[in-house]
Amino acid sequence: MKFKVLLIEDSESSVRVLKRVIGKANLDVVLANTLAQAKIIFETTSPELYLCAVVGYSLPDAPHGQAINFTIDAFIPTIVITGGVEEDVRENILAKPVVDYIPKQNAQMFEYLSRLLIRLEKNKQIGVLLVDKSRRDRNKQSSLIARHNFITYEASSAEQALTLLQRHPLIKLMLVEEQLADTTGLELVSEARKLYDKDQLSIIGLSTNMSASLLAQFIKSGANDFLRKPYCHEEFFCRIVQNVEHIEQIEAIRQAANSDYLTGLPNRRHFFNKVNNTIHRGQAQMSLALIDLDNFKLINDSFGHDFGDVVLKEVSKIIVRHFSSFHFSRFGGEEFCIFMANVDHAHAVELLNAFREDVSKKIIKSKGISHSCTLSVGVTSRASKKIESMLTVADEHLYKAKAQGRNRVIGDLD
Ligand code: GH3
Ligand code: MG
Ligand code: MG
Repeated sequence: MKFKVLLIEDSESSVRVLKRVIGKANLDVVLANTLAQAKIIFETTSPELYLCAVVGYSLPDAPHGQAINFTIDAFIPTIVITGGVEEDVRENILAKPVVDYIPKQNAQMFEYLSRLLIRLEKNKQIGVLLVDKSRRDRNKQSSLIARHNFITYEASSAEQALTLLQRHPLIKLMLVEEQLADTTGLELVSEARKLYDKDQLSIIGLSTNMSASLLAQFIKSGANDFLRKPYCHEEFFCRIVQNVEHIEQIEAIRQAANSDYLTGLPNRRHFFNKVNNTIHRGQAQMSLALIDLDNFKLINDSFGHDFGDVVLKEVSKIIVRHFSSFHFSRFGGEEFCIFMANVDHAHAVELLNAFREDVSKKIIKSKGISHSCTLSVGVTSRASKKIESMLTVADEHLYKAKAQGRNRVIGDLD
């Protein structure tokens, strides 16, 4: 689903730039030139469709930030655009529960807005756990966090916190106050670190009058960062965003290391790890299939390497569609591998034949070329603790499939 951004702004030149920035973040713009217009538009659309509002501070019918109150009252996260940076205007804006304010002085600011919009959308999938004995402090943090679209969870004790972490894998960040209902924040941090690595969960320690030694202890117990109370909102968000982005970057690196660059499928190494884990858990039934595209060299030679790449990508999409509940991989070149746990031989052959037929019927089109391709499969269900032994058998079957004329599945009984 594409979210909408309610843009309330009257200056034509600003609207032009803002529309482009919002579009770049892959969001739909709903434009109002005045507060009155925004009210009318808003009556006819549901507030959940809006990711946020981008609101001009000064509008013809709302010269002193009145439009900000309107979007905030409608529970839409609000980003304010201002003409200048007068201190009284800034203070007036920051006194309201806005996401952020952006002075429209230079191009850099619009770049910042673009990143902020993308962040607000991603935050909808990220949980933040607030652990603090004081309900008042939790409420304060929670309202700040919710303003940025994060999903918030609250706990007053370490025990509650650990239960919530276990139940909600969307939690990527935990804020821990030193004083908890059952133990200390330090104790919770070190317990949580036994269960979750720094690349799964970021932790920020919080305390009033935090001494240098407490701060060091937080970090030594496994916290990524710390924040002294009281904090200003801007600092609070900078820390939150920095720590969430840290987790996301590691996730992106891991994703890249585990997948094949061209097709996005899991690569051979990742596939081996996953399959070995499954095998060692002890499976009664398992099948391993080796897939090889037929006469692929000829496709490259006839239509070019780029078209060959398109074919590999299209076949990969069909693999994902057919085998989403199993492990699969681009094994190298024009070879793919599928591991099916809890599937007997006859069923495995049936699934592979359905897949083979789908591929052979697909007309692959790119840059004026259209062509189809076939593939051959060798599959074995002779279970082994070693994936290498199963691969050897599947490879022998594949060789047979090629020798018998290609575009076929050969199994243990053929
Ligand atoms: P067979 O039916 O016996 O499998 O014949 P084949 O032509 O498919 O087998 P062969 O092993 O001779 O050729 C495989 C070709 O796959 C050769 C290689 O250039 C091509 N290939 C390997 N990786 C890629 C790739 O990433 N992109 C493209 N376009 N071609 C690739
Ligand atoms: Mg090959
Ligand atoms: Mg081949």
